[in-house]
Amino acid sequence: MPAVEDIVLAPDTRLRTECAPIDEIDDSVRALAAHMLEDMYATDGCGLAAPQVGELVQLVVIDVDYGKSKRNPYVLINPKIIVADGEERETGEGCLSFPGITVRVSRPSHVVVEARNLDGDLMRYEAKDNLMAVCLQHEIDHLHGVTMVDHLRPLQRARKMREYEDALAAGARPGDVDVED
Ligand SMILES: [Zn+2]
Repeated sequence: MPAVEDIVLAPDTRLRTECAPIDEIDDSVRALAAHMLEDMYATDGCGLAAPQVGELVQLVVIDVDYGKSKRNPYVLINPKIIVADGEERETGEGCLSFPGITVRVSRPSHVVVEARNLDGDLMRYEAKDNLMAVCLQHEIDHLHGVTMVDHLRPLQRARKMREYEDALAAGARPGDVDVED
């Protein structure tokens, strides 16, 4: 299936579901991670969470160096935000599950995340004031049924959802973002 058709689009209920932790890192988990990385690169995303391909497990892939010639992929299994502090920063975010819109979201500027990698090692990631800090929070939100529009106030959210519906109706595909916002 082409990557863009693989992506679960809002308002699918799978994007509203608490995902299950992964108990054992087996071939199916390795295959899922490989499949998600392929979809992420094919759609020019910098991150993708398992529920966005319809798998309700706690796995995300991230590559904030996307677009550069060298790939630098991270696979995070059962990631947990253990510190989220620092000044709140507002950034324009896009999401493969909301083609055609960009949403300004305010989040803590510093995070520390613990996650297993594909070898089962417990890894710690720290990010401050950069795309990685935003991406970690955005993707981990997905594992708990939270999407970027949930961070907006109700009126703003309603406006963005209308904009999203219009974009979809106009043929927006995963990876399309609204450059105006
Ligand atoms: Zn997303």
